[in-house]
Amino acid sequence: MVKMNLNNNEALAIDVKGLTFSYGKGKNKVSIFENFNFTVKEGEFVAIKGSSGSGKSTLFYLMSGLLTNYTGEVSLFDRDISRLDEKELSLLRNQTLGFVFQQFYLLPRQNVLQNILLPSDYPLEYASQKKQREEQAKKLARDLEIHERLDHLPSELSGGQQQRVAIARALLNQPKLIFADEPTGNLDSKSSATIMEYLKKIHKEGKTILLITHEDEVAKEASRIVTLKDGRVVEDIQNKPSSENSLKKTYQEEKKKAGNLFFNVLPIVLMNAFQNKVRTFLTMIGVIIGVASVCSLVTIGKYVEDRIMDGFQGMGANVTTLSGHINWNLRATDQYPRKFNFFEPEHDVDPLYDLFSKEIVMMTPYLEAWDSNVAYAGLEVDTGPRLYGINHFGHKILGQEIVIGKGINSHHVENKSPVCVIGNAFLGRLFKNESPVGKIIKVTNNSNNVINCEVIGLLAPIQTAANSKNLDVYLPYTFFREAVVNWWRRQIREIAIQISPDTNLVQFKNALIGWFKNKYGVSGNFWLNSNSLLREQMKRFIMLFNILLASIAVISLVVGGMGIANMMLISVSERLNEIGIRKSFGATKKSIRLQFILESLLVCSVAGIIGILLGFAFYETLIYVGSKYLDKVKFVWLIEWNAIVWSFLSIVIVGVVSGLIPALKAEKTEVIDALRSD
Ligand code: ADP
Ligand code: MG
Repeated sequence: MVKMNLNNNEALAIDVKGLTFSYGKGKNKVSIFENFNFTVKEGEFVAIKGSSGSGKSTLFYLMSGLLTNYTGEVSLFDRDISRLDEKELSLLRNQTLGFVFQQFYLLPRQNVLQNILLPSDYPLEYASQKKQREEQAKKLARDLEIHERLDHLPSELSGGQQQRVAIARALLNQPKLIFADEPTGNLDSKSSATIMEYLKKIHKEGKTILLITHEDEVAKEASRIVTLKDGRVVEDIQNKPSSENSLKKTYQEEKKKAGNLFFNVLPIVLMNAFQNKVRTFLTMIGVIIGVASVCSLVTIGKYVEDRIMDGFQGMGANVTTLSGHINWNLRATDQYPRKFNFFEPEHDVDPLYDLFSKEIVMMTPYLEAWDSNVAYAGLEVDTGPRLYGINHFGHKILGQEIVIGKGINSHHVENKSPVCVIGNAFLGRLFKNESPVGKIIKVTNNSNNVINCEVIGLLAPIQTAANSKNLDVYLPYTFFREAVVNWWRRQIREIAIQISPDTNLVQFKNALIGWFKNKYGVSGNFWLNSNSLLREQMKRFIMLFNILLASIAVISLVVGGMGIANMMLISVSERLNEIGIRKSFGATKKSIRLQFILESLLVCSVAGIIGILLGFAFYETLIYVGSKYLDKVKFVWLIEWNAIVWSFLSIVIVGVVSGLIPALKAEKTEVIDALRSD
């Protein structure tokens, strides 16, 4: 063996000057190198030898930029790597360096070919020539005799085969400098020999190789052997003359074509997201159930509320009915201030406006005569029509909309005008869909009392209530009282009241009934339509019911979100490992982040959309089945945008944030620590 003779004129692949590095801080500080100097010429095959713990690996990490918190200078091919920015360093790793590790560090869920092709994913800013790279990968696989295993997973390969995959990967971008840290350390002697033969072969072809080993057998294959002890070079010998390597230009110039970061990262994402099928599937199930339950439960809650509230319709919102009847059970001895027979507008209705000016918005007497028959021009509707008497507030209070013509006004009420507003169903049944306005209809009630009146307006169709509702005839109540001969029907026993929305219904009821009781004593019975009170209570009940449903939904959404977070966090070390591998082959921070964001976004969005569709299918099915078996339930298409948007957004945000955690963590970690995290 010949003592090495350094020729300063030769180009240096590695130049380490005054390197100082220690692990840990404070008390735990372990100094590994102190003012360490070392060089490797281009084309050399250097073996670094030394017992375990002598600092070989640490030196390798420092020389290759996998560890960065050192002082001193490390130059690769005349470039001080501490001065390179993150992108330049990534590009250097990708194009100029090749790594082979004792632990292989293959991506466990990607097959052999995909693993070999890893360096071709980067730098992502450039469009890579996938086809051509694949040819190169296959050629390398043939050289290394792993070409029959291209579609196998690393776990299906022997150690020797896995290391050959790692070597093929390291060589894909035809780097000038190969770092190999104990590449044969986990292999049997036969596999070791194969690997060493191959390293010698590529050395002859012009690569600079830095091989780390603690075995003399392996070291002696190199052209220069450096022995390390406690962070110092204790021996540096030339083994065989270094082969005269003239380095061929090996960069893939065509790779420099600009590409789109997003579209370049997408294939990686698609491949990755669905690689771990079980994990992805379980994550998605959580999201799907969460989103589906929010969508369906909230929508069903809303639907039930609407249906129940519809049942109380007929009167508009905030409308209540005051009823007053004669007390037929009066005894001769009963005392009362005044005798009640029926409501008199002048004495019983008008004063209420002043008495309850805060609560009462408007009022109308409400008179009814059923079982009427309505005829026009030889056509007749004889079952269903009902005759009502109201004042000029009536349409508003009853929530009626007039689609043709006009409603009853105060002039009609004052003059007892013989006019009427009719339900929508008459349009088809009596008027052949022509405007009924101005036509005189003949209304006959069951006492054979005939009333002729001029149609002045047509009501909008009422969807929810029984069909007969569309067969109502409304008259000014003053005219009603004149025209209807039945004495009992002519008396006002009901007053519909529109109350202001912030009225406390119970208090109002007590005050109002109290006033009438005061006035008429036991001679009358008064009550406020329980429908309104029931409606009020129902509303509260429904609100509770909806809160309950929404809570269940939100809980399942939270469980779904925690599912994602959990899955993502459990896999942090696995993902960190992947990040380390990707980074050592040239991935930048940005590309890693983008990959992880897109991956979470993809998984969560797909699951979210499936969840929305499933939720939709679920509640529509429920409504459909309900409509088959329950008379009151009508099938409708319902979409609650709030539920959809919020559940989708929240799950996607949780997904992206928890998906990003490994990437964010990796940014704070040295590449080598990410790589070694297990
Ligand atoms: P070799 O590869 O020669 O076996 P290493 O470079 O792995 O040696 O380790 C050199 C020394 O640094 C050892 O004493 C080891 O315990 C220490 N060391 C290695 N990695 C770390 C680390 N991450 N934190 C603290 N000490 C470390
Ligand atoms: Mg080591």
